[in-house]
Amino acid sequence: MITIIGGGPSGLMAAMIASWNGAEVRIVERKGKLGKKLLAASNGRGNFSNLKLDETHYFTNDTSFVKKVLDRCGIFQTLSVFEEIGLMVKNFDSKLFPYTERSKDILTCFIHELENNNVEIVLNYQINDIVYSNSNKLFYLKSEYKTFESEKVIVATGGMSAPQFGSNGSIFQSLCTLGHSLIELKPGLVPIIINDDFFSVDNLGAKLSGTVVLENAQGIEMSKKYFGEIIFKNEMLTGIPIFQISNFVHRYLDEKIPIYLHIDPFPSYTENQLEEIILKKINLRPKKPIYLLFTSMIDEKLIPSFLNSLGINDLMEPSDSLKTSNIALIANRLKYWKFEIITTAEWESSQVSIGGINTKEIESLTLESKIIPGLFFAGEVMDVAGESGGYNLQWAWSTGYIAGESASSHK
Ligand SMILES: Cc1cc2nc3c(=O)[nH]c(=O)nc-3n(C[C@H](O)[C@H](O)[C@H](O)COP(=O)(O)OP(=O)(O)OC[C@H]3O[C@@H](n4cnc5c(N)ncnc54)[C@H](O)[C@@H]3O)c2cc1C
Repeated sequence: MITIIGGGPSGLMAAMIASWNGAEVRIVERKGKLGKKLLAASNGRGNFSNLKLDETHYFTNDTSFVKKVLDRCGIFQTLSVFEEIGLMVKNFDSKLFPYTERSKDILTCFIHELENNNVEIVLNYQINDIVYSNSNKLFYLKSEYKTFESEKVIVATGGMSAPQFGSNGSIFQSLCTLGHSLIELKPGLVPIIINDDFFSVDNLGAKLSGTVVLENAQGIEMSKKYFGEIIFKNEMLTGIPIFQISNFVHRYLDEKIPIYLHIDPFPSYTENQLEEIILKKINLRPKKPIYLLFTSMIDEKLIPSFLNSLGINDLMEPSDSLKTSNIALIANRLKYWKFEIITTAEWESSQVSIGGINTKEIESLTLESKIIPGLFFAGEVMDVAGESGGYNLQWAWSTGYIAGESASSHK
């Protein structure tokens, strides 16, 4: 018997592959339904992978582990499994979705396979403790009311992100007791809380599109640069590029290194070009109130805060009252929106966990524990988190596939 703890995407994949290999398989899931987080993926649209797949899209302390896993099982295997279970796929700019753009359809295909292959599905049981008996080589998986026995175990419990969908970190204590170590968990792909007197109020729902990068106090870039829409929620910034950047911030916050977001809403314009655009606008309509000068350049909700932050407070004054030095400053700041980061938002709004079980203790080829034979890992429970764009679900499929295959063919 192989017992899979956790009925998320990695557990579903592991169960299906192990059952295809002829193993007797059981899933124990703490929630009343399987795959709750999968259903929420990309607002229910199910961006399940990305054609631009390699280890550079992952946050981990062990990049070579990720590379070995993805080399062993990447997009090719995932797509052939999906074809086998009847899932039709759509590609948007390298992001892969079910053709219907419904994550529910992925779940439906899996559940049919599990039922067809007699996988036992036990819902509403949380495993609190994994005990391994060396004498009879059996695992005892203890929940509040029942203990399950199993020859092999695949831990597919996720991390701590979005606990409302099930992953609440309840198994980590037991894994540590078994001898595994935990890289401290932090919320990833999550909104960022900023410290700013001008933009931290009254901007709910305002948007900026542009590039975002992390900078230190000296203006040196400390992360990859991402492009997309940034949404202001008063003291919080959100949106895909902010989520991407959030994965980088913890290491600096932990070391108390001041860290800033640099947003450039005009990446294809130089500061001089922006200055010329503003001057031209002023020449065309010199008596237009200052705040209307920026209509169509930035979201109107942001214009007062933007100008106030530069010390320009009389927004109804005619545009030609702006001093040349102010115009230069405006052009500079239009390209350089800088916000000090205080922290990230909490687990409830995070999509992935940074940190997890130390992958140095896991065989990359089989995903078996190097400490306890017969114990395997799949998915977010390990110290691997992906960028937004399908990388986290791909990690779940790849690792679920390998763990399911090796647990069911293991001598
Ligand atoms: C809102 C949201 C949107 C997302 N969108 C995307 C996206 O578009 N593309 C993408 O690639 N990724 C996305 N992700 C991330 C992706 O969903 C996760 O990385 C992925 O679900 C992880 O799979 P998993 O199987 O490792 O863990 P989970 O999906 O977290 O599943 C773990 C399961 O284990 C169960 N469990 C936990 N502890 C126990 C226990 N002790 N006993 C029994 N059961 C237990 C949980 O209830 C849960 O069902 C999104 C995440 C969120 C929250």
